[in-house]
Amino acid sequence: MLTPSTQQKPYPLASRIEHPETTLVSVGEIQFGGTAPVFIGGPCSIESYEQLLTIALGVRKAGGHMLRGGAFKPRTSPYSFQGLHQEGLKIMRAVSLEVGLPIVSEILSIEDLPLFDECVDMVQIGSRNMSNFDLLVRVAELGKPILLKRGMSATAEEFLLAAEYILNRGNSQVVLCERGIRTFETSTRNILDLNSLAFIQTESHLPIIVDPSHAAGRADLVPPLARAGLAAGAQGLLVEVHHDPASALCDGAQSLTLDQFHSLIDSLT
Ligand code: PEP
Ligand code: MN
Repeated sequence: MLTPSTQQKPYPLASRIEHPETTLVSVGEIQFGGTAPVFIGGPCSIESYEQLLTIALGVRKAGGHMLRGGAFKPRTSPYSFQGLHQEGLKIMRAVSLEVGLPIVSEILSIEDLPLFDECVDMVQIGSRNMSNFDLLVRVAELGKPILLKRGMSATAEEFLLAAEYILNRGNSQVVLCERGIRTFETSTRNILDLNSLAFIQTESHLPIIVDPSHAAGRADLVPPLARAGLAAGAQGLLVEVHHDPASALCDGAQSLTLDQFHSLIDSLT
């Protein structure tokens, strides 16, 4: 049994003190926080209908439960591919209907709330927007399940306080995602912080998954980090998958092929 310390917490709604049982977050038939891990796979960005359909069929065949894909991409450089925007989300909705996988995609702006309300099953708030409190509150008000990623330089407490903004708005359907943090170590893109994963599981009743792809930045390190995350208690994985990583418009180096994703899931189940 996880034992949060009994001191008063700055995040009373996210804390396990008043809510010892892990919260179950449902996305259609999928449940986060139960006994089985949830596997989410898909490309960093939606590039075309054919691309997403090919990948979605591979994710489903591999045993993945949900499809991910970015339509609004928060790229470090303004010259990098920014995503297909509205057209991308429409493609994603169509592919979801075709293959029967529920979908999660990242929102960047309050302006796009109606579009996300119409198109996605779960709304992702990315690392760069974890502290965009207006966005957190407005997305919470949609009433849809939310995948909240940890800011790359946020402490575990700041991460839980960001979740608190959503809970405080009356939306309890929050799944946390540890995606790696910035440290002095530069040999990988980020460091998957399993200390914080374990800490958060003692402190909070919210389910938490890991994203080994953005933590590693390279595909060959994704399987060991995925296994480590699940061994440490993560309730699911968010993995970037592409049918042809070399041609991906975003994050190809860290994307698993469909076969690699299939082998990973086989090795975990
Ligand atoms: C993503 O999941 O596509 C993404 C941009 O990740 P992060 O916000 O963790 O950088
Ligand atoms: Mn990415």
